[in-house]
Amino acid sequence: MKITSAEFEISAPDLRSCPAWALPEFALIGRSNVGKSSLVNLLTERRELAKVSDAPGKTKLINFFVINGSWCLVDLPGYGYADVAKHRRVEFNEAVAGFLSGRRNLRLVFVLIDSRLPPQPIDVEFLRWLDHEGVPFALIFTKTDKQSASRGQAAVAAFKKAMSGWRTDLPQIFASSSKSRAGRTQILDWIGDVLTKSNRSTG
Ligand code: GDP
Repeated sequence: MKITSAEFEISAPDLRSCPAWALPEFALIGRSNVGKSSLVNLLTERRELAKVSDAPGKTKLINFFVINGSWCLVDLPGYGYADVAKHRRVEFNEAVAGFLSGRRNLRLVFVLIDSRLPPQPIDVEFLRWLDHEGVPFALIFTKTDKQSASRGQAAVAAFKKAMSGWRTDLPQIFASSSKSRAGRTQILDWIGDVLTKSNRSTG
């Protein structure tokens, strides 16, 4: 898919304040520093876009970018661990939970995973939560230029194994690098395919 336009549209503090449009939406989420802003820049080829969502105050907001005037990239605040009483649990803000489980035009969530790390419990728990909520997702392993192809493949294999504990089918998996631009075409083409399918089913 060719990107002809990419515009920052609005930031929303919660689900209720999200735009009332019917544009199909694709969300990006991951732990902070996973490479989310760099991926927004890579996909859209517009450096200023990620800057907008990184601006102070906007990192806790849901940021909407309209692409080609016909679909939307949604930049979600990341998640972390909270120490609650004696046990740790995955914490992401209520607005994100509300958006992920309640947004009707959300087509797919891309969950970004750092390809240099073994499966992180926080990522695995978040994916289980998405499954529990019935939210469709795909995985993007980021920063693949930082190690050899075989180590990157081993990271993906380890993650697949971690997921096989609760899923029989695996989600779509991509590998990306903002340095080598790997993954850009595949991710955009996949979005194009999802859009074509949803146009068919709604049209
Ligand atoms: P965010 O916090 O998830 O938005 O992460 P950023 O996009 O700001 O990236 C965090 C750091 O990782 C920055 O120093 C980026 O330059 C670096 N980074 C992000 N993606 C890549 C990548 O694909 N390759 C390399 N080598 N560095 C990356």
